[in-house]
Amino acid sequence: MIIFLLVLLVCIGGWKTKNLSFSGALSALIMGCIIGYFYHWKGLLLLGAFFLSSSIWSKLFTGSKAEIEGRLAKSSVRDWQQVWANGGPAAVFIILYHFTGSEWCLYSFAAAIAAANSDTWASEIGPLSRKSPLSIRSFKRVEKGTSGAVSLLGTVAALAGSVFISLMFFILQDSFHWSLFILISVAGFLGNVFDTVAGAYWQEEFTCPVCNSSTEAAMHCGVPAVKSKGYSWMNNESVNFTSSFLAGAGILLFIPG
Ligand SMILES: [Zn+2]
Repeated sequence: MIIFLLVLLVCIGGWKTKNLSFSGALSALIMGCIIGYFYHWKGLLLLGAFFLSSSIWSKLFTGSKAEIEGRLAKSSVRDWQQVWANGGPAAVFIILYHFTGSEWCLYSFAAAIAAANSDTWASEIGPLSRKSPLSIRSFKRVEKGTSGAVSLLGTVAALAGSVFISLMFFILQDSFHWSLFILISVAGFLGNVFDTVAGAYWQEEFTCPVCNSSTEAAMHCGVPAVKSKGYSWMNNESVNFTSSFLAGAGILLFIPG
């Protein structure tokens, strides 16, 4: 009951501070209940570490990121699709943990959140890099905020974001295993690498006929943008969901025996 009230309070807080839209807050509430029910406060604190650190990064340095907001399909106010894209796989693994009782599903849960955190830190901190990022498809410098482009700062942020969650997981576990710590950190980081590759090759992108900039939004400058690449079902959310899910699923390959 206390857990539920706490989750409710955090969701209302996220909505009031415009980190979450109404649908996003409702989704976060449902997800919080799932994770709180199956893994209690340990799961919620890990999820909280992800949401809180991401919100802090997105609120900081907003001025230098104003230019990239127009490129993205969505604003920093997270809606239900973004909430489920980032937390859905973690919820799946925690339900799996409940039914199998296997510790490895817990590690998958941690890796799924580590991947989501890795991606969020990279996309919130990376654009602060002074140089424009390098597209991994064309090896050319492209505008900041382009999916499938990397910078040194963004890559360091991605690694730090994954390590942070992995570390938090073991702090909450009250135990520490170097090999598992490295495994979860690497899985989370590789999830972000998948995110970048998918963003570069398969994610849908448009060109605005008015301002000629490339964007992930189907509408730009008040007119429909022209599709330039990618699959229509491959948007930022489905790519995020897949990379987080793969990071968690990848852990299960390491189950001994
Ligand atoms: Zn435009």
